[in-house]
Amino acid sequence: MAGWANYPRLQAEVFEPNDRVGVRSVVLDNDRIIARGNGKSYGDAALALKLLSTLRLNRVLAFDAENGIVECEAGVLLSDLLKIIVPKGWFFHVTPGTKAITVGGAIASDVHGKNHPTAGCFSNHLISFDLMTASGEIKSCSRSENTDLFWQTCGGMGWTGVVLSAKFNLLKITSSLMRQKSVKAKNLEEIFRAFKENRDWPYAAAWVDCTNADWRGWVLFATHEDAGEKENPPVFFEASKRNVPFFAPSWFLNRISIWVNNYFYFNKKRAEEERVTLDKYFYPLDALQNWNRFYGRRGFVQYQFCLPEENAFDGVRQMLETIRQSKETPFLTVLKCHGERPPEAVHSFPIRGYSLALDFPRTSGIFELVKKLDTLVWELDGKIYLTKDACSAPQMGRVNPAGFGEKKFTSLLRERITLGG
Ligand SMILES: Cc1cc2nc3c(=O)[nH]c(=O)nc-3n(C[C@H](O)[C@H](O)[C@H](O)COP(=O)(O)OP(=O)(O)OC[C@H]3O[C@@H](n4cnc5c(N)ncnc54)[C@H](O)[C@@H]3O)c2cc1C
Repeated sequence: MAGWANYPRLQAEVFEPNDRVGVRSVVLDNDRIIARGNGKSYGDAALALKLLSTLRLNRVLAFDAENGIVECEAGVLLSDLLKIIVPKGWFFHVTPGTKAITVGGAIASDVHGKNHPTAGCFSNHLISFDLMTASGEIKSCSRSENTDLFWQTCGGMGWTGVVLSAKFNLLKITSSLMRQKSVKAKNLEEIFRAFKENRDWPYAAAWVDCTNADWRGWVLFATHEDAGEKENPPVFFEASKRNVPFFAPSWFLNRISIWVNNYFYFNKKRAEEERVTLDKYFYPLDALQNWNRFYGRRGFVQYQFCLPEENAFDGVRQMLETIRQSKETPFLTVLKCHGERPPEAVHSFPIRGYSLALDFPRTSGIFELVKKLDTLVWELDGKIYLTKDACSAPQMGRVNPAGFGEKKFTSLLRERITLGG
């Protein structure tokens, strides 16, 4: 078993209960276990010697199409929900860059999207959930019931128990199209300026070319298109999928091939404004199934950090400079802007500022670089995203693994940061 980045890997026993009774016996029969959704966390968050897969807890329990509220079991995938909710004029308030995740995974990582300044994280729209605790008891958690457990579970990486089902609010849409604006930026200053000058667009994310001396890039902004009467009801068009059928050789992604890819991506002609489907805008990577195989069997390491607004520009530049001085070249680099975090959402990753996510092939030098990046992020008062982590220093997520949850629910991630290495 492995996370999405195929590093680390281990042999695990996987339990796949299909109802609450089954989950209870797995929880009671095992000393150490962790819930696993669809394994789309990059590192070791959903890895342990014993895994409780939620993929068979896949029933949609209720959908209030009038008010946009859905209740489903924790193993339901966002991709399955989209087929039900979009035709009724609803979308997610918050969605990550892949639709192949479970609702349980969205809660446990408290995922964010490209609209964090206006929409916050998944927990901002979560009404309630049922949680199986270490004793096998089921606790209903919401902002008014078992409040502490509610907030400790959002972003709590599965350490409080197994989310069985959840209820959350949806976003009203009138069209299945997005209006997208593309801004080409010659350097990092222009990328940051574009974010500031386009704050009225609810969605924003930038691609940064790390092989370029000035860190040029594209910043893509978007908003939901208002179809008026024209498109009724909206339809979820899924882009046709291609598959990467086998692991590429480990040399496939190297400084030169990444440079060539970035050159063409940067010079691609784009309309200043265009209409794109929901699927194309939110989930472009899903169109290429198993794209993680490009990195070869050795896998890769994703490093995502967030810096406070006041340190963000200089900090991101220092981080990119440190990467340039190393021999490592990230293949994909994405910058996002983040807003205020509700004070109760203690484990959510984003803080007001900017985050950068970088995918590095797992070379022999990558761990040395991560050490340097960790030191810098720490000095800049930043933090890393635990759902992407596989090898950072234990303090980097700024959570205390002994401070909440139950020992029974221990992943490799939790063990690693508890033991301090
Ligand atoms: C291409 C891609 C793009 C991504 N983009 C983003 C992004 O933009 N923003 C973002 O925030 N994230 C992003 N992610 C990360 C992803 O959204 C999270 O890692 C998410 O948690 C994965 O959900 P999953 O169902 O695959 O869970 P898993 O990877 O299986 O598990 C993730 C964590 O959730 C816990 N967990 C899972 N199910 C339960 C449950 N029922 N009860 C308790 N704990 C549970 C696990 O123990 C683990 O700690 C992206 C991932 C990929 C592959």
